[in-house]
Amino acid sequence: MSAQPSLVLVRGDITEQHVDALVNAANSSLLGGGGVDGAIHRKGGPAILEECRALRAGHYGGGLKTGSAVATTAGRLDARWVIHTVGPVWSREEDRSEQLASCYRESLRVADELGARTVAFPAISTGVYGWPLDDGARVAVEAVRAADTGVEEIRFVLFDEAAYAAFEAALS
Ligand code: ADP
Repeated sequence: MSAQPSLVLVRGDITEQHVDALVNAANSSLLGGGGVDGAIHRKGGPAILEECRALRAGHYGGGLKTGSAVATTAGRLDARWVIHTVGPVWSREEDRSEQLASCYRESLRVADELGARTVAFPAISTGVYGWPLDDGARVAVEAVRAADTGVEEIRFVLFDEAAYAAFEAALS
């Protein structure tokens, strides 16, 4: 087992981070959306979407499954790679937390394959997909703590004070 990565909380915009890889809260189409996804494509430029289209034309013809992750270039972002993962939509009837944990685990697995040492995550599924922040933070922190990874720094980039507070509580 590798040494435990350090977990860092930052309040800010994930597209401003200088890291080896930043994680996109994508949707299964891989062809862009709102929130983090929109911001990454806007700032990263067309090279990311081009590679996403190529993925759709190849192994990912049916799109990316919920809980899975795949990497592309980071285009003009200050990172080497974007790791796209698809969070589950929050459900009151069904516990989908295993799928949400899988997003974090699979993203770290892809990061390890790439050799990324620093990885930035947004609070996956807590935007348009409706996951309650406190629970999304708990799942995120538990998942990365349990992961066996060579990544040295895992940075959670939280867009607002409420998200930051939720992750702070989950860490302590
Ligand atoms: P999802 O569809 O998985 O819910 P969203 O992108 O809608 O993904 O939101 C995920 C989280 O990321 C939300 O908490 C949202 O407030 C936050 N967020 C939105 N834009 C950014 C950004 N540029 N950087 C970091 N976090 C962001």
